[in-house]
Amino acid sequence: MSAPHLMNADLHCHSNVSDGTLTPEAVAQRAHGNGVELWALTDHDEVGGQHRARAAAHALGMDYLTGTEISVTFADKTVHIVGLGFDPDDPDLVQGLAATRGGRERRARDMADDLARVGIPGAFEGALKYVGNPDLISRTHFARYMVEIGVCGDPHEVFRRYLTEGKPGFVPHRWARLGDAVKWITGAGGVAVVAHPARYDFSPNEEYALFTEFKGHGGVGVEVVTGSHTAAEYQRYADVAREFDLLASRGSDFHDPTESHTDLGTLPDLPGTVTPVWEALAHRILRA
Ligand code: AMP
Ligand code: MN
Ligand code: MN
Ligand code: MN
Repeated sequence: MSAPHLMNADLHCHSNVSDGTLTPEAVAQRAHGNGVELWALTDHDEVGGQHRARAAAHALGMDYLTGTEISVTFADKTVHIVGLGFDPDDPDLVQGLAATRGGRERRARDMADDLARVGIPGAFEGALKYVGNPDLISRTHFARYMVEIGVCGDPHEVFRRYLTEGKPGFVPHRWARLGDAVKWITGAGGVAVVAHPARYDFSPNEEYALFTEFKGHGGVGVEVVTGSHTAAEYQRYADVAREFDLLASRGSDFHDPTESHTDLGTLPDLPGTVTPVWEALAHRILRA
């Protein structure tokens, strides 16, 4: 095992239990093959893959932390909160996630109706072909379908031209409240981490409010090194972690071998100035 900072921990990625394309077992294989020593599968609003992920990790001799990524609405924007090291069978967590997932089908039908208005019919059925978990239809599945039918060349182009605020196919949605998401995670024995903070387009005041309220609810971590951050943003959020006294996390946000620009386990190490979140989670790590 490496020194804490240098450990190859990948604590953010997706399987086909949410909007990734690989099974939990295949994600485990890929993580292990890339040298990951501590792994967490963090499917959106779902813990349905946790027992499989843990079993697959242990079969490979890899340590495991339970994980999820909860969709939250904060200051009228969507924020993602990663939960790590919780009991995946905790009833309040399981129920909270089910409620958070609940509106996805209605939203998807409304998205498809809006896309039909700009000449893209059949998108609900088209997106469904890519869905591994009928409870979890996401914009990613729409993006894959829109690439399939040639509307766009790749999923990133889809998110530039469609499915985002002000663009066709965008349907505003109210996700979980920040305080509830943090409470479900911590109530189940885990720790809450703000995912990819540079992605939110918040003003400095809004970002300050996010971290302040997050801490007030009992949140303890922030992603510093993620596939969604530039090198300059690693530094910036390492500073934020110190300013707010937050633990730092590291995760690729891997979804698919061809779509994802960051592969499992290949990110730079956390800067030496921060405390890795896994140091506080030693008692929650499920050892192989
Ligand atoms: P949803 O939870 O249905 O709103 O879908 C959110 C998912 O869409 C994220 O977790 C990403 O996987 C994907 N996504 C969002 N924005 C982008 C983007 N600009 N490029 C590629 N994928 C994106
Ligand atoms: Mn995703
Ligand atoms: Mn996210
Ligand atoms: Mn993610």
